[in-house]
Amino acid sequence: MTDKKSIKRREFLKLSSTAMVAGLAGGLTGNAQEESAARSYTIEEAARKVGQLPRTKLGCSGREVSIIVGSGDLAAAPREAGILCGMNYWHKANQWIRSGTPDSILKNREGHYCQVTVDRVGGDHHGGRIDEEEHYAWVKEVLKRTGLGYFDDMQLHYGYHSREELKQERGFVRAFERLKKEGLVKHLCLSQHSYSGNARVPDGESAAEVLTAVVEDGIHEHAQFMYSYGGDPEMDEFVEFARKKGFGTIAMKTARGIGRIRDDPVFMEKLPAGESPHNALVRWLTTKTGLDAVVMRVKNLNEFVESFSGAGKELRASDTKAIRMMTEQADRTACRLCAKCQPHCPQQVPIAEILRFERYAMDDHDWGKARKLYAELDRKGDACVQCETCIPFCPQALSIPEKIAAAHTLLR
Ligand code: SF4
Ligand code: SF4
Repeated sequence: MTDKKSIKRREFLKLSSTAMVAGLAGGLTGNAQEESAARSYTIEEAARKVGQLPRTKLGCSGREVSIIVGSGDLAAAPREAGILCGMNYWHKANQWIRSGTPDSILKNREGHYCQVTVDRVGGDHHGGRIDEEEHYAWVKEVLKRTGLGYFDDMQLHYGYHSREELKQERGFVRAFERLKKEGLVKHLCLSQHSYSGNARVPDGESAAEVLTAVVEDGIHEHAQFMYSYGGDPEMDEFVEFARKKGFGTIAMKTARGIGRIRDDPVFMEKLPAGESPHNALVRWLTTKTGLDAVVMRVKNLNEFVESFSGAGKELRASDTKAIRMMTEQADRTACRLCAKCQPHCPQQVPIAEILRFERYAMDDHDWGKARKLYAELDRKGDACVQCETCIPFCPQALSIPEKIAAAHTLLR
């Protein structure tokens, strides 16, 4: 079954051009699209342009992983180019249930670290529960369907609601330990969102609070969390703490506001000649932060080359200028999802969630995902009464009520 679904060699050869056309149609607009349309890469050419990705030691096990982490939902062409560049850690490898596990990974299983990302059961990440038996059974089922044999990492998706939940609710850890004894998983990790002030999670706490407790707990080996350019002292402090403790860190949701920046011809015109926001960002993330690795979404080979050719390369003066300009622009337009505003909304509007979905639409151009997730919210942007109580708590001083109203119009 898996083999039938897997990408065969003859299909592999067709992927470059297909992926390029699909990516361009769905991704870029205006000048950026015209600029990208002028280029076309085969998988091998794209890999040559990017070169070998540097590797980094992830967490206390010291496993060497590519500084750019792949994902199970990465399109086939950039995925294959990534493998040629030494991309060897695959977040959400369980997604290959749908598309088929790539032959290139199955044939060199020991050369890759594949992660299973496990959701709560009986509801979403707010109301769902941690359930030892169900997690245990689900991971076994996914192993059967992906044909991977074992998962290197078992990740609790969205993480714990609070330090108390981490302490009291050990069902996920127990499921991991049982699977580990059977040789089916090896390392425990999590991705962590912020639940502070979240109306659907009583006593929820911030990502930094929970993650600090996770490190002190000593069972999980590494974590994924939201991190982007611009000042975030709380997460910077956590990253430094994690580094000292030998706890691995992987940044996600890194490209705050970059999609809309690229779509803004006036802004792009002002950037230093030859600068690309994604490339400057990858240089910054991989050389100027204490992070071990980074997840960044790319849709096609052009975006792959543009972004990942910056991996591990020092910032040039023009990159530093670009990052400064991008920060000023994004601080005015794109939420960093820190959720600091959240506990202060008397109407319990899920501000950070709504603005996360807005980012999927405006930056990733993934309108289907954004609208689907927005439709699932039980409290939407029209619950905002424009009281402005939240604004003083936003480190970016965003006009939150205006943004919430605009997001509601876009996504409802
Ligand atoms: S302006 Fe809207 S989102 Fe902000 S605190 Fe008031 S009701 Fe909540
Ligand atoms: S609106 Fe401001 S405070 Fe709220 S999550 Fe976004 S950046 Fe943070």
